[in-house]
Amino acid sequence: MIDLRSDTVTRPTQAMREAMMAAPLGDDVLGDEPTVQALEAKISALLGTEAALFVPSGTMANQLAIRSICEPGDEIIAHRESHIIHYETGAPAALSGCMIAPLDGPRGLFEPEQVRTAIRNRDQHNPVSRMLVMENTHNKGGGTVWPVAQFAAVAAAGRDCGLHVHIDGARLMNACVALNIAPTSFTQHVDSVSVCFSKGLGAPVGSALAGSTKLIARARRFRKMFGGAMRQSGLLAAAAIHALDHHVVRLADDHANARALARFIAEIPGLMLEGTPDEVPTNMVFFSLDQRLGTASEFCARLARYHVAAIPMGPRRVRMVTHLDVSATDIDAAARSIHAAATEPHTA
Ligand SMILES: *Cc1c(COP(=O)(O)O)cnc(C)c1O
Repeated sequence: MIDLRSDTVTRPTQAMREAMMAAPLGDDVLGDEPTVQALEAKISALLGTEAALFVPSGTMANQLAIRSICEPGDEIIAHRESHIIHYETGAPAALSGCMIAPLDGPRGLFEPEQVRTAIRNRDQHNPVSRMLVMENTHNKGGGTVWPVAQFAAVAAAGRDCGLHVHIDGARLMNACVALNIAPTSFTQHVDSVSVCFSKGLGAPVGSALAGSTKLIARARRFRKMFGGAMRQSGLLAAAAIHALDHHVVRLADDHANARALARFIAEIPGLMLEGTPDEVPTNMVFFSLDQRLGTASEFCARLARYHVAAIPMGPRRVRMVTHLDVSATDIDAAARSIHAAATEPHTA
């Protein structure tokens, strides 16, 4: 099976497993986990923040930022298609009592003026506009990278209005590799950042929240409350350190593979690629299906019989993601399978 469902499916490499086995361990809740502390220091240095916190998932990293900043009744401004709205189980409402003001905009991006317009007047009727979340890369938007100037302008609009600005940076390193820039080009404009080690970076588990010492101290308490404080988590932190040392530069390979896959898909009858192959920004390829190919779930089920796994991201929309465990050769094979699944005599 060539698994293009997500970049979360990667298995730790042999070298990563060895790094995990060699890691010195302690008890992170008791405050003496050397490998977790090393990872947290490495992440703060990379992202240019005062502090960082290792957490089990990207969802927890985002939700700790929200819980640490917002009060019940507060409002978070975010793109309508953002991960915190669609894929975090309603957690902003459930865990922090917040509502979200959704913004529209192409491919997950929006403009400074939209943020200014979304800010509520301070009036007893209104929720308090408290936080702005910018997703980079933007998942549902197509693996979109925020242009730095637009990103800086939107973040500045948020901060000027007194908002806490947070990056949902599950794939921030993909954005940085795509633009060949340091993460601080984005993070210098914001107050907190979440990053995932378990996506393109290829670690089995783990994410981090980075921000000020004050924010991270609050988040550490809520991590305990949410059940995410871990003990000999240096085993996992070692995998994340290895990923940061060895799997960042190679994200460019995933991006090249995604573009190659998009070039194949653009040629297959009945599949409508979103944008042109050269516009595929990072490691995700999205396309929609002609009516006669059935629904996205039906198409993905058919594709599985040709040994390619993908996931439906809408009634007729399919997502494919490249990662550490798919080679350029796999992409050629996947392309042949996708062609076969799209052209086999079938159904409606
Ligand atoms: C994957 C992802 C997350 C976090 O997901 P977890 O599965 O909880 O680690 C957060 N934001 C975005 C944009 C993501 O793609």
